[in-house]
Amino acid sequence: PAAAIGLAPSAAAAGSGDLAHDAADLVARRDRTFAEVQEHYYDAPPRIERGWREHLVGTDGRVYLDMVNNVTPLGHGHPGLAAAVAKQLRTLNTNSRFNYGAVVEFSERLAAMAPDPLDTVFLVNSGSEATDLAIRVTLAATGRRDVVSVLEAYHGWTYASDAVSTSTADNPNALASRPDWVHAVEAPNPFRGRYRGDEAARYAPEAAERIRELAASGRPPAAFIAETFYGNAGGIPLPDGYLAEVYAAVREAGGLAIADEVQAGYGRLGQWFWGFQQQGVVPDVIAVAKAAGNGYPLGAVITTREIAARFRTQGYFFSSTGGSPASSIAGLTVLDAFRDDGLQRNAADTGAYLKSRLEALAERHPLIGAVHGLGLYLGVEFVRDRATLEPATAETAAICDRLLELGVIMQPTGDHQNVLKVKPPLVATRESADFFVAMLDRVLTEGW
Ligand code: PLP
Repeated sequence: PAAAIGLAPSAAAAGSGDLAHDAADLVARRDRTFAEVQEHYYDAPPRIERGWREHLVGTDGRVYLDMVNNVTPLGHGHPGLAAAVAKQLRTLNTNSRFNYGAVVEFSERLAAMAPDPLDTVFLVNSGSEATDLAIRVTLAATGRRDVVSVLEAYHGWTYASDAVSTSTADNPNALASRPDWVHAVEAPNPFRGRYRGDEAARYAPEAAERIRELAASGRPPAAFIAETFYGNAGGIPLPDGYLAEVYAAVREAGGLAIADEVQAGYGRLGQWFWGFQQQGVVPDVIAVAKAAGNGYPLGAVITTREIAARFRTQGYFFSSTGGSPASSIAGLTVLDAFRDDGLQRNAADTGAYLKSRLEALAERHPLIGAVHGLGLYLGVEFVRDRATLEPATAETAAICDRLLELGVIMQPTGDHQNVLKVKPPLVATRESADFFVAMLDRVLTEGW
């Protein structure tokens, strides 16, 4: 990628000692200050100074291909975004209470993006706030206290979003510390969940039955919350008809359906909300964030006027910086770039190309148990044995470390930490896809 963007060639392949020196210093300082560096997977994290499109440049001049960044659909160092936010910060940036034009316009465009009848928007700062608020909206709108979530899910770190986060990869105590108002149903993973292949049709009736049981026991749920594309395990579409059946059950019980679109939504799958669109359903409440501000803090809850009105009777919603003028300008600039630069089309096209190349790689490397996903949200799952699906956890970590040396930033995910979740910025080119495949091929061929 270095040549493609006119920068000095990556020194990564040479294996310079500078990185280790810098990283050791960084890790020591991190540990001294107890600073929780986000997603600090690497023992020797690269020290990144700047970025351009899907490329990152270290302080030592090395260039990396960023294959794990679903926060920046426009890529790094987007000049239009920087200029728009800077201009806004110079003129006015205050809380969203002032209804500055950008705040209203951004809300209108989010409402237009969402399916009917979802037309009411609450702006917040992050994905955790969005899912947390989505839950609070449903609790207030129904006057209930119980929520149904799926196992192996991650929805955020704030109180309510953390409570419904059942993934033990993100929090080893997730299940033990779950409050009694959270009821988890089986993870609808057709690849390695309890029911596989055709058997996956059993997840939905089981979840629906659990919801009916709760209602019959006097604790009807306020909501069912789930990602509409099974993200944590590496980007696996839900079984056909899953959401239709589970949403119907929760609604019959008087509850609401929350779609967590923080990660899979906002165009990454080739359409704004492919996850629930593909399932042929419309949720009652949608949570978005991550991509919305291209790294600038911005999230939103989108719901119906009627549900929003019921929520408002229970209290007052206000977020000092949620949807501030600068965040809203960032949000509008991102939406303009999606429209003008064809980012959804690129996600679909480059994603399909990359997936086919990874599938070809799987034919030569038995460690690849499956290539999951859609658009630019793919999962490469490593297994020791394709029949037993024994997760290749240690191998995945070692492969990521080797990929870093070769100039590709990647990290293991999933409850078994055996999946490469491939999520480059949506501006990623075929050349970058080729580079990633070539480096992965090299690691799998030469060893790690
Ligand atoms: N929901 C999903 C599906 C996520 O993947 C995440 C973050 O990884 C969140 C919610 C929380 O978002 P944030 O980290 O912006 O608080």
